Amino acid sequence: MTALDDLIEALKRLPGVGQKSAQRMAYHLLQHDREGARRMAASLTAAMAQVGNCQRCHTFSEAPVCAICGDAQRDARLLCVVESPADQAALERTGSYRGYYFVLQGRLSPLDGLSTQAIGAEQLLLRAAETAVEEVIVATSFTAEGEATAHVLAEALRSRGIRATRLARGVPVGSELEYVDLGTIAHALTDRR
Ligand code: ZN
Repeated sequence: MTALDDLIEALKRLPGVGQKSAQRMAYHLLQHDREGARRMAASLTAAMAQVGNCQRCHTFSEAPVCAICGDAQRDARLLCVVESPADQAALERTGSYRGYYFVLQGRLSPLDGLSTQAIGAEQLLLRAAETAVEEVIVATSFTAEGEATAHVLAEALRSRGIRATRLARGVPVGSELEYVDLGTIAHALTDRR
């Protein structure tokens, strides 16, 4: 395999990028933007070395504890569960949520072998059992797998005497939170049940 083939294969790992797009990207970088390609390589290396996960909420963080978990001004009574750092960022952008987060490692997907253990449900239950927490808002996506995940988590939380709520309907069925407009998310947060 040549270095060019290697690059094309590497680019194909990105979501939504097939053979043709990967080829176009590789040719573009090599022919028109070698400086950009160098920067990309350097920032990828740096990100892989420096970006880890917050010990408390598991979102991306370069420090052991992320800025949100480290912010004592937030409302410790609320814990919001999301599927990914991207969904967390979407909720943050609404500016209408002031509690803390717990970021799962995806959602339950029996076909892909993603179990409650694989998505970090155990750590969530531990975090939710902390005395300050009064309500856990389950904000997994409104896809079939996201709904199934929400159901399993809510049951597990309630069986431990922890109040669990779900984002209200109004977020379109089948949607990933990160693509839903901010007003709709903010509304779904206020109307949770
Ligand atoms: Zn955190």
